[in-house]
Amino acid sequence: MRFDLVTIFPEFFAGPLEHGIVRRARETGIVEVNVQDLREFTKDKHRTVDDRPFGGGEGMVLKPEPLFQAVESLLGHGMGDAGAGRTELDGRTAIVLMSAAGKLFKQETARRYAGLERVIFICGRYEGVDERVAEHLATEEISIGDFVLSGGELPAFLILDAVTRLLPGALGNLDSALNESFGETGDGGGRIEGGALRGSGSTSTTLTKAGGLLLDFPHYTRPAEFRGWAVPEVLIGGNHAEVAKWRRAAAVAKTRRNRPDLMGS
Ligand code: SAH
Repeated sequence: MRFDLVTIFPEFFAGPLEHGIVRRARETGIVEVNVQDLREFTKDKHRTVDDRPFGGGEGMVLKPEPLFQAVESLLGHGMGDAGAGRTELDGRTAIVLMSAAGKLFKQETARRYAGLERVIFICGRYEGVDERVAEHLATEEISIGDFVLSGGELPAFLILDAVTRLLPGALGNLDSALNESFGETGDGGGRIEGGALRGSGSTSTTLTKAGGLLLDFPHYTRPAEFRGWAVPEVLIGGNHAEVAKWRRAAAVAKTRRNRPDLMGS
């Protein structure tokens, strides 16, 4: 899978791309990441990417021309104009505009992107991006949460990370992605219905009926006792059925405590 990051701060990604699962996925060829400096697509000597907003107001707005040209050069073809209409993509590529005013990013969005061949991220800055980019260039406008950041670089990397770890081979243990918070199956993260967990606790159970989501169960490692706080006894006993039962109950309790909104009724 290929990711392109269109940005005025290409150096921003140097650190994040060099660590952990994303780094390994790049090294093993599971993902290819291209950081595209937006300023390469400016024509004036000041390499201007922004301008004042029509209608007045604070701040600067990223201009449409360099963004269209950057994305078109990455795609290898034009994206159309008002006369000819918009060029439709083949469905295997998403052009994602990072925007506080976008649709909310969720784990299901990450799963959808993981099925694509390519995602091109457009990172906004300043007051944002000329709206024609959202309307006629991006295939979707995505927010990572109900707060405002100063740029789209962190949000884009956040999505890149969430998608990469879903790709086959990216995680050491294939099961890990199934059992997590917001996962589709399993005895950890999974779906619940009417407050009761659906599924048997086996890691490969596919839960067919839609219901609420369940967060991951709590994890513990050595030492079994730390400053007097002991690990739940059942986890040490080695009884797998009891462990699975405890984990389900703990996941439900934790979801109820931290994210009751996920549980449905
Ligand atoms: N004026 C805009 C905020 C601009 S912040 C508004 O009120 O909606 C500058 C850039 O940061 C945005 O163009 C976007 O690319 C990025 N950004 C800020 N918050 C974000 C969020 N929650 N999700 C995704 N991108 C965000």
